[in-house]
Amino acid sequence: MPDSTLDGAVALVTGASSGIGAATARRLALEGATVALVARRRDRLDQVAGAIADQGGTAIPVEADITDPQSADEVVQRALDRLGRLDILVNNAGIMLLNSALHTTVEEWDRMVSLNVAALLHITHAAVPYLIDAAATSPRQVADLVNVSSTAGRVARPGSSVYNLTKFGLQGFTESLRQELLGEHVRVSVVEPGTVDTELVNHLGDATRDATRRQVSGIEALRASDIADAIAYIVTRERRMAVNEMLVRAGDQTW
Ligand code: NDP
Repeated sequence: MPDSTLDGAVALVTGASSGIGAATARRLALEGATVALVARRRDRLDQVAGAIADQGGTAIPVEADITDPQSADEVVQRALDRLGRLDILVNNAGIMLLNSALHTTVEEWDRMVSLNVAALLHITHAAVPYLIDAAATSPRQVADLVNVSSTAGRVARPGSSVYNLTKFGLQGFTESLRQELLGEHVRVSVVEPGTVDTELVNHLGDATRDATRRQVSGIEALRASDIADAIAYIVTRERRMAVNEMLVRAGDQTW
C-alpha cells in the first residue's frame, strides 16, 4: 500500500456491512486508515474486513445493533480498545421506509427515527471526546466526523415525510456541531447522496419498492464507490481546508 494521508488514523464507519458504508470502509482503508466496521450482519462485516485485508489494509468487525441505546458507548469503546484511538467517524447507517402517512405504521416511523436520528446522536456523543483527542495528538492535527444525509435532506417529496424529517434534521445538527467543534480542529461535514445503487430499497414493501424503482428507472444510479470517493476527499484534506457539505446527485437526477 502506498504512503497516504490516513496512515496511522483510525476510522469508525456505521452501516459498514453493505452499500455506501462498505465502500467507504474499503476506500478509507486504501487511504491508509484502520477501520472499525459497525453493523448487525456479522457475516457481511467479515466479508468487508476480508476484502480490506486482501487490498493490504486492516479492519475489525464490530457487530452491533446501534439502535440499542446501550450499544453506542460500547461500540465506540470496543473500537478504542482494539485500535487505540478514533480519528474519523462516518455516521452512515440509515434506513428509508417510504410510504404515505395514511398507509404507513408508526412503527416504521419509529424505526427511521431510532436509526437515522437517535443512534446517530448516541454514537456521535460517545465519539466526540475521542475525536477531539485525536485532533490534538495526531500528525494530521485534525479529526473528521462525516454524516451521510441525502438529497432527501434538501428536497421533500410525498411518501418520504419521516425520512425527510430525519435527513433535514441531520443537516441542522451537522451545521451546529461544525461550529461547536471547529475550534477543536474536528471537522464536521455532511454528504448528501442522490440515488445510489444499494440495498436501501430492499427494506420497502413490494408495491413501494416497485414504485421507487420505476421512479429511478430512467437514470443511471450512482455507485456506492462514488460516495466513498466524496467522503475520502473530505477526510484527506489538509487541516487548513474544511469541505463542510457535498451534494452528489446522479447525473440525470432532476430532484
Ligand atoms: P444499505 O441498506 O446498503 O446500508 C445500510 C447500512 O446500515 C447497512 O450496513 C446496515 O447493516 C446498517 N444498519 C441498518 N440498521 C442498523 C442497525 N440497527 N444497527 C447497525 N447498523 C444498521 O443502504 P445505503 O448504503 O444506501 O445507505 C447508507 C446511508 O446512505 C443511509 O443513511 C441512507 O439514508 C443514505 N443514502 C442512501 C441513498 C441511496 O440511494 N442508496 C441516497 C441518499 C442517502 P446491517 O443490516 O448489517 O445492520
